[in-house]
Amino acid sequence: MADTLFSLAEGIRKCTACPLWRSRTLAVPGEGAGKIMVVAEAPGVEEDRTGKLFMGRSGKFLDEMLKMAGLDRKNIFLTGSVKCHPPQNRKPVSRELKTCKELWLDKQMSMVEPELIVVLGGVALKSLLNKSKVDDLHGKLIDGKYFVTYHPAAAMRFPSVRKKMEEDMTVLKRLL
Ligand code: SF4
Repeated sequence: MADTLFSLAEGIRKCTACPLWRSRTLAVPGEGAGKIMVVAEAPGVEEDRTGKLFMGRSGKFLDEMLKMAGLDRKNIFLTGSVKCHPPQNRKPVSRELKTCKELWLDKQMSMVEPELIVVLGGVALKSLLNKSKVDDLHGKLIDGKYFVTYHPAAAMRFPSVRKKMEEDMTVLKRLL
């Protein structure tokens, strides 16, 4: 499996299929192992610079949340809805999400064959389930496979969101 995911990552690093390639420094394919997949939104400034997801403060925060669910970064496959940093940190538009999902995210999902996919925030929710309201769906298992919660950036910013995300993590722990 590693070789195939590795080749996909190589393809992602060279991809120019949507306009986001123009604003990236490094594409961020995602990485990891195991049967739990975690899908975030788009690479931020630091991720664009390093080519890795959730570094620094946001990485520590995500690790803390994962721990509450009994998960460890070593045992998950972590990736984004799009793999390139959008200009001015804007959200990816529908067409970019669709292109990147069809070209890369769907293939990553078929290779990882996840038993459960943790959907982090509205962008991932839109990409994977074509729905927009995290508030309506968080803490729930959708279609027997997708567990929806908030994006760590929102939880770090707003204590009320953090509380809801922490509650979601305890629900997730029970599900796993
Ligand atoms: S965001 Fe995805 S589809 Fe768009 S250029 Fe990057 S890898 Fe390709």
